[in-house]
Amino acid sequence: MKISVIGTGYVGLVTGVCLADLGNEVICVDIDKEKIKKLKKGKPTIYEPGLEELLIKNIKEQRISFTDSLEYGIKNSEIIFIAVGTPQSKTGEADMSAVWDVAKHIGKYINGYKIVINKSTVPVGSGDKVAEIIKKNMKEKYDFDVVSNPEFLREGSAISDFMTPDRIVIGSDNHMPAKIIKRLYEPLNAPIIITDIKSAEIIKYASNAFLATKISFINEIANLCETVGANVQDVAYGMGLDKRIGPKFLNAGIGFGGSCFPKDTIALVSTGKKFGYDFKIVKATIDINKLQRKRFINSIKKYYKKKLKNRKFALWGASFKPNTDDMRDAPSIDIINSLLKEQTTINLYDPVAIAEAKKIFKNKINYFNNAYDALKKCDALIVVTDWNEFKQVNMQKVKSMLKAPVIFDGRNIYDLNYMQELGFTYISVGRKSIL
Ligand code: NAD
Repeated sequence: MKISVIGTGYVGLVTGVCLADLGNEVICVDIDKEKIKKLKKGKPTIYEPGLEELLIKNIKEQRISFTDSLEYGIKNSEIIFIAVGTPQSKTGEADMSAVWDVAKHIGKYINGYKIVINKSTVPVGSGDKVAEIIKKNMKEKYDFDVVSNPEFLREGSAISDFMTPDRIVIGSDNHMPAKIIKRLYEPLNAPIIITDIKSAEIIKYASNAFLATKISFINEIANLCETVGANVQDVAYGMGLDKRIGPKFLNAGIGFGGSCFPKDTIALVSTGKKFGYDFKIVKATIDINKLQRKRFINSIKKYYKKKLKNRKFALWGASFKPNTDDMRDAPSIDIINSLLKEQTTINLYDPVAIAEAKKIFKNKINYFNNAYDALKKCDALIVVTDWNEFKQVNMQKVKSMLKAPVIFDGRNIYDLNYMQELGFTYISVGRKSIL
């Protein structure tokens, strides 16, 4: 099929590359000229395992091309994916300006029947509005259909998530476009749910809000565990073995971040408000998540009896989760900012997100290319992201590099007994502190 994907970020680029790899002819479009220039050379603009190989392969086999011309992309495709960002606006709801802008361009350049697919996460009712904008901007009358096809990939495992999804959701108010899009996804052998546009739009927000709620729930349990001297990891394991609950998203820690859960939970609350519904659970999920970061920062302050001035900390992990360089709404940002306010020095190490961190913190902190080097003469190590490479470090070496053997672990990646044996002061989340 001839496809264009408009918006070449985490979702658009992965969608474009994977659809090309399935044998489709794909044009990736973005208004960011620099991004397009890099991508044309086969250089990914984001860090995502497996992406570079797939990108180069499909460029070589001429199944994927890149352009900054919306006109070219729209005119030369039958299926148009809208995959632009829908960030949080100042008032909380999703900022839909980029989606509306793309719809306007589709109306302007439409030159035959097209299926327009909303892949961006968009509030319920957006499909109708996209159709309305396309119609309003058409010079000549052409038929088109709007389909909702929300994306569930996770950064860090985006390629495999796209290629082996748990499910594919197709929201369409007509039978024919749904059948065509179903055919597009058939090679993936995943369950395909066909529903109306509004239900598809809600499935995305409901899924993200539910997962975020699961995280905030276990974090509240962690806070209770901390108070009574229980171990949240054992509690989560005991809960997760119940098939109705499941073990995933039960890792207590410093909460969720990233470009999706924070903005999508807030947007769902806004949508509720718009239609006169008060989302109590989702509001609590958001509040608990904010609190969780504060609690962690407070545990550091409490340990030093609020005397943090001139201390030096090594921070491991900048990205909001492992295997990505994405730092949007990453807990590391709040933690670093709070520590900087206390006039401390920060040594930051992250396997791939240092370039992103530099854009945010400029010369306010020190950056390292190696986890151990960042520890030199620090008062403590603070673990912020649970990258695999932090899990099996040489703890004797860590101890010898630090000024004092103190670790604050926001992701619970180390064994309590082992840390005790090694003589560390070890403060984690929802588990007893080793002091
Ligand atoms: P992103 O910010 O990484 O990428 C968006 C891209 O769109 C950018 O490259 C930007 O230059 C481009 N763009 C903006 N306005 C444009 C316009 N008018 N015309 C053409 N291009 C334009 O965003 P993302 O993380 O890929 O997210 C895209 C959508 O997918 C969002 O709605 C998001 O909520 C949703 N989503 C994201 C993820 C994720 O893990 N990142 C997962 C599922 C769904």
